[in-house]
Amino acid sequence: MNALIHTQFSRLRIFFRRPVRSIVQLFFVAIFIGLIIFIIDPTEIHEICPWAIVESPILATLVSCNLFWISGMIIGLVGIIATLFYPRPFCGWVCPLGTLFDFLGDLGRKLRIVAKPVPHWLNEKMRYFSFGVLIIVVLGTIVSRRVICIYGCPIYWLCAMWKLSIPIFTAIFVLFVLLLSMRVKRVFCRYICIYGALTSLFSAFARKRLYLNLEVCDYCTLCRVCPMGIDVIYGLVVESRHCISCGECVYSCVKSAFSWEKVTLEIDRRKNG
Ligand code: SF4
Ligand code: SF4
Ligand code: SF4
Repeated sequence: MNALIHTQFSRLRIFFRRPVRSIVQLFFVAIFIGLIIFIIDPTEIHEICPWAIVESPILATLVSCNLFWISGMIIGLVGIIATLFYPRPFCGWVCPLGTLFDFLGDLGRKLRIVAKPVPHWLNEKMRYFSFGVLIIVVLGTIVSRRVICIYGCPIYWLCAMWKLSIPIFTAIFVLFVLLLSMRVKRVFCRYICIYGALTSLFSAFARKRLYLNLEVCDYCTLCRVCPMGIDVIYGLVVESRHCISCGECVYSCVKSAFSWEKVTLEIDRRKNG
């Protein structure tokens, strides 16, 4: 009986807590849309894009200070600073593109077209691809002295295609990413996004991490819902630098086996012990 009440309570908790993240995400989507409609030219969304933190300093140094999109850089910097507290909250709670991918992933689940989970070892290896993209963007920007990330940026073209003609290869790529996101959750965030790659480097220093209480966990695997494909019951602490603090695994666990804890020697000791 107690177990049943606990389960029902946990389900209610899931029901009430998930909307919090959704409301926050929708809030930032509304701000983004408002900015695009009323303030920023859709072809200039670099001004509010955290990717600016990668390309702007290069362009400002090589070409002109006019290209230094200070607001985009500040957003990028704030996202990195926030990552020092919790793993990549910008990606899990703020980024409108991430919200779109969450929506597409949910749509794919509703349409029952979700692919089988990518195996853990393959998922981890494929994440290095985003670092390759990051290097290509940096080198490409230095050589071309132009903003080159726009050629593969879905959100840029979703905003700008109403004003600019989209290159055919970019159109195919963007369509491919959007459709694939219905099969593989956040595929772009996992394997391609350069800001995701950058923040994952800082995520290793996050003050808090997800801790799994192995004494409570009964390995039911209900928590294997991670949009970033992290196998959360792989270890005692979710070490992955690719966690986006979305909390999906936390709220899926009917045993309340997860908790956010400060990274301490105690956790390390229990992990190693
Ligand atoms: S990985 Fe990139 S696209 Fe995905 S949520 Fe983070 S910043 Fe946005
Ligand atoms: S849902 Fe909770 S109890 Fe089940 S495997 Fe995951 S952490 Fe363990
Ligand atoms: S589901 Fe859990 S491990 Fe995966 S990104 Fe969200 S909080 Fe991190």
